[in-house]
Amino acid sequence: MSATPLALKSEITPPLLGASVADLSLWVQQQGQPAYRGKQLHDWIYHKGVRSLADISAFPKEWRAAIAEVPIGRSTIHHRAVAPDGTIKYLLKLADGQIIETVGIPTAKRLTVCVSTQVGCPMACDFCATGKGGYTRNLETHEIVDQVLTVQEDFRQRVSHVVFMGMGEPLLNTDNVLASLTSLNQDVGIGQRSLTVSTVGIRDRILQFAKYNLQVTLAVSLHAPNQELREQLIPSARPYPLEDLLHECREYVEITRRRISFEYVLLAGFNDLPHHALQLAKCLRGFQSHVNLIPYNPIHEVDYKRPTSDRIQAFVNILKQQKTAVSVRYSRGLEADAACGQLRASK
Ligand code: SAH
Repeated sequence: MSATPLALKSEITPPLLGASVADLSLWVQQQGQPAYRGKQLHDWIYHKGVRSLADISAFPKEWRAAIAEVPIGRSTIHHRAVAPDGTIKYLLKLADGQIIETVGIPTAKRLTVCVSTQVGCPMACDFCATGKGGYTRNLETHEIVDQVLTVQEDFRQRVSHVVFMGMGEPLLNTDNVLASLTSLNQDVGIGQRSLTVSTVGIRDRILQFAKYNLQVTLAVSLHAPNQELREQLIPSARPYPLEDLLHECREYVEITRRRISFEYVLLAGFNDLPHHALQLAKCLRGFQSHVNLIPYNPIHEVDYKRPTSDRIQAFVNILKQQKTAVSVRYSRGLEADAACGQLRASK
């Protein structure tokens, strides 16, 4: 790359994915090109899906040759598993050879992408396949944005929603998660309200997140209605008790005026009994929230069981009687061994 003229200080260093039009405009000017090429570059990277700067036919040949080796930050598809319901699970290979999971979930009017935020995960939740596999590193901003573009290109359909519910704990990678939320919103064009970040809860990070004043949805993985049960499932709950987590969540709601989604994985005989539902409703009384029940997807390493549909319905009914907003989310892609961290574990 050519030397940077002092007058133009761009914040970005390649890989370019995740950079705004303004950043790209500065970057092209540093290369001695007119500012409008930044807008062109933005269009080629985010909307035309170019994988090498050498292929941008709108650019002068000599310059293309000069920047041919500058990385955009795209992954390659290492494996692709299609479930009968149309869900596609991808294993993506990153520049350093690491493999992550991404899922594309098509429904009537939506295409949702479930993105990973880390290679592996350090939280080690007992029922989670990713947690059983250990932790390697955080994902960079471009590696998060790339997952959405990859699914969009493979489906040849615009992505409408993104959920940060793949491998990893997003609030342990806050800077890159925030940068990727911004880029997905402003560069890829996905509405903030269609972006959801799911966390198991890291002390002080929920409040930190609130201060960014985003319109994205926060989902908190609760999974138990009391501390005793929660810490059996989630090791990090020991130093960060349920009471403290719920207190931080209440402050989040006060600051943002946005409701929180609480995720609750239903494990037969463990946390799915009527008294658990009552206790859960009590925890959330007066709280602007919504409970998402996730019937457990069996993984090989542990022998929890998924409750029967009658049990699930009984749990729902109790929450409804208690005026707690609730829905049941069945994980899709189960048939392809593709739910929740299982594909990477099986390959
Ligand atoms: N670290 C984030 C994202 C994890 S994945 C978090 O904890 O929220 C998104 C959701 O899937 C979490 O609620 C997680 O607990 C849940 N999950 C993980 N393994 C599961 C399994 N085997 N069955 C059902 N849900 C599972």
